Amino acid sequence: MPKRYELPPLPYAYNALEPYISEEIMRLHHDKHHLSYVNGANAALEKLEKYRKGEMQIDVRAVLRDLSFHFNGHMLHSIFWPNMAPQGKGGGQPGGYLADYIARDFGSFDAFKKEFSDTAKTVEGVGWAVLYYDSLNDQLLVLGVEKHNLMHAANLSVLLALDVWEHAYYLQYKNDRASYVDNWWNVVNWDDVEARLRKALGK
Ligand code: MN
Repeated sequence: MPKRYELPPLPYAYNALEPYISEEIMRLHHDKHHLSYVNGANAALEKLEKYRKGEMQIDVRAVLRDLSFHFNGHMLHSIFWPNMAPQGKGGGQPGGYLADYIARDFGSFDAFKKEFSDTAKTVEGVGWAVLYYDSLNDQLLVLGVEKHNLMHAANLSVLLALDVWEHAYYLQYKNDRASYVDNWWNVVNWDDVEARLRKALGK
């Protein structure tokens, strides 16, 4: 059987991130939006398989564009969910290697937080703010990603991702993306981010 992507379950209850992110948003976001990216990636794979067997004519460029969009949507959401944790477990500041890297590469945690927040608030249209580990230079980088895949950088490890598509906040924050971004810091799961950095460092 050909391999297919699957929707991972949320690592906590749908209402676990309240009051910062509502249960209604989490249900729609995970069960409908994330699932649509899983299904979209699988649909592109199926088209490619039929094309490889000569069973289907396809517009290769369009199918690969769909695959990139949906695959990256699936990957970023799969990191976004465990990047967050319920109140009491999330928020605050990181320790470990992450604290050292942030201090070295951004100057201070506050400077990092400002850069990441400004990135999230200014993504044009819909997209993500992402903290990466760049193994080429052994450094952390913050980049904005448009949609799920545009302006994406190859060969960087995603450590922390913040979804700023409207479906991530509109039902609760309306058009006030900035308040959503500011409140989101209360649910960041620094232990998860630290684990991703250790994996990238091979520690
Ligand atoms: Mn999303």
